This record gives sequence, structure tokens and C-alpha cells, in this order.
Amino acid sequence: KLFNELQELKGNIRVFCRVRPFLPGQGGANTVVEYVGEDGELVVTNPTKLGKDGLRQFKFNKVYSPNATQAEVFSDIKPLVRSVLDGYNVCIFAYGQTGSGKTYTMSGPDGASEEDWGVNYRALNDLFKISQFRKGNINYEVGVQMVEIYNEQVLDLLSEDNSQKKLGILSTTTQNGLAVPDASMYPVTSTSDVITLMEIGLQNRAVGSTALNERSSRSHSIVTVHVRGKDMKTGSVLYGNLHLVDLAGSERVDRSEVTGDRLREAQHINKSLSSLGDVIFSLASKSSHIPYRNSKLTQILQSSLGGRAKTLMFVQLNPDATSYSESMSTLKFAERVS
Ligand code: ADP
Ligand code: MG
Repeated sequence: KLFNELQELKGNIRVFCRVRPFLPGQGGANTVVEYVGEDGELVVTNPTKLGKDGLRQFKFNKVYSPNATQAEVFSDIKPLVRSVLDGYNVCIFAYGQTGSGKTYTMSGPDGASEEDWGVNYRALNDLFKISQFRKGNINYEVGVQMVEIYNEQVLDLLSEDNSQKKLGILSTTTQNGLAVPDASMYPVTSTSDVITLMEIGLQNRAVGSTALNERSSRSHSIVTVHVRGKDMKTGSVLYGNLHLVDLAGSERVDRSEVTGDRLREAQHINKSLSSLGDVIFSLASKSSHIPYRNSKLTQILQSSLGGRAKTLMFVQLNPDATSYSESMSTLKFAERVS
């Protein structure tokens, strides 16, 4: 319901801001979050400027306080996820600096129990539930691909031999067209199938990097759920897809301090995040030219950004006062696209 209301108001792009809680051991730290309102207001405070001069207000479609549960977050986006079964293309992103809770929102914490599941498990679980319910009227087939974009190269996270083969992108014009046709696609019929696949993807993502966290903060991961539904009365077929995107960390690196590989990674990340911002901004401002071609990320997601497609960006914040300047740049990015 929230979504339908928002859609009337705002077209097809929404921005939800989620502030993660302080982690155990961070007790007593200062927070930048001054106020979270029920209508999507967020007031942040500059730790170096006391009083009202340090306050800055933002407004999004929704803002979650640090104690919002995974279930609450999912209940707000359920209608969006379900629209995939009606033939819509949907993109859900998590944007923010490393450590702000992107992976927590999209997947959940490491080894999550069902209660802690993030958006992707809950989404697939829900799609299976609804498709079971509609069976006989509409029969659905669901397939999953999982790719990573690292240094502007697209890698298959579900390849059996973990070949780290670079994949090409097709610009898709048809509803059922695959943007990355050579990425492995697995049919799934249950949430446990999905969990198995995600584990494989996670292992493959770790290859070639010393620490998983390091690599995952410097690459974008995209889980794509392809749905094909056949109406058993009329025989007509519909296609929908859902992209679940855990973006690379948005933190700015200090150019004077990094060189070589690290600088190259940072430049690629910068470029692709700003391209994404430009595409969403152009869509939101109804521009006639949408600059999809500027990054691999926006090329892959092209058929799911704009047109009838629906886009949701989770903007993630670390509440700690020491993250103030990163949080401000995250919020400004979000303000521009919302
Ligand atoms: P990112 O993917 O943006 O780098 P993570 O999702 O890994 O950040 O989150 C950083 C840490 O904070 C992890 O230990 C994670 O479990 C924890 N965390 C993030 N969001 C929440 C939340 N909403 N509730 C509890 N813990 C969280
Ligand atoms: Mg992460």
C-alpha cells in the first residue's frame, strides 16, 4: 500500500534511508542522527558545530530508525517485490559507505537465521509463496543469476569452475532478454535452493582477494531473479525480473594516500556510482537522454531502470559521529536522486 501511494506521488523511483544501530562495543559513541520522523524526515547534526547551525534536514520516502527490524523493512517493500510476478522489472539497491549496513539490508548478517534474513531471501521466499498460490492459473518458472562488477569487468559468481571469465553485456530491448546472457543461470524452486546458490556466489566472490570484506566493499554484486509466468487459460506468457544490488562502498578515498591497484579500484567505483546517480537523476527529472552507456552497472540494469520499471534505493548510514562527512556525502547523493 505504501508503494502504491508513493507511486502516485513520485513516479517510479523511491529512496528509503536506513540508519544502522551502533554495534556492540560502540556504546557511548556520538551519533549524527538527531531526529527520525514518521514521514521520512531525517535530521543530522554536525559534531563540530553545536546548536542549530549544525543541523541539516533531509526528506526521503521513508527513514528507518536504527531499531527497525528486517521484517519491518521487508513488509514495506513486499508489494514492489510482488509486482515482478505481474511482469514488472524491479531494481533494489543498497548504497552507502563500507560498514553502513548494505549487506545487512540485502542479505542479512553472516549465517543469518530466518529472522535476520535480508531483502533477497525474503523476496525469493515471498515469490515462491505467491507462485505456489497462483499455480494452475499462472505457472511460474524462476531462475537466478549472480554477477559481480569489479574494475568495470563483469564476472560470473555462479560459474562451476570459478573461471573468473569476463562476461559481455547485451543491451536488451525485449522483456525476456538477458543483459548478461553468458552468466550461469540456475532454476530455483525453493528458498533452500537460493541459499545454496548465494553461498556458492559468496565463495566465488572471495577468490582473488585476501579478505572477503575487502573485495566485497570494492565491487558491486547483482543477484538477478528472472520470472516467467504462463497464464494457463490464455496461454500468454509474461516476464519480470528483480535485480538485488549490493553496491561497492561509496567512501571517497584519499588520492594522496592510495596508488596502483587501490587507486584504480577507487576510480572505477567512483565512476560507476556517479553514473548510477546520473541515470537515476535523469529519470527522476524526466530528461530525454538517459546516460546508461557510461558504466557496466547501468548497462546491465538498463531494462530495469526507467520505463515501466520500478527502482528502490536503500541509502545506508553509519550513525557514528566520526562518519559525519561520509554520511553527508551519502545523503547528498540520495537527495539528488530522490
Ligand atoms: P556494508 O555491507 O555496508 O559494508 P554490513 O552490512 O557488513 O555493511 O554492516 C556492517 C556491520 O554492521 C555488520 O557487522 C552488520 O552485521 C552490522 N549491521 C548492519 N546493519 C545492521 C542492523 N540494521 N542491525 C544490526 N546490525 C547491523
Ligand atoms: Mg557489504
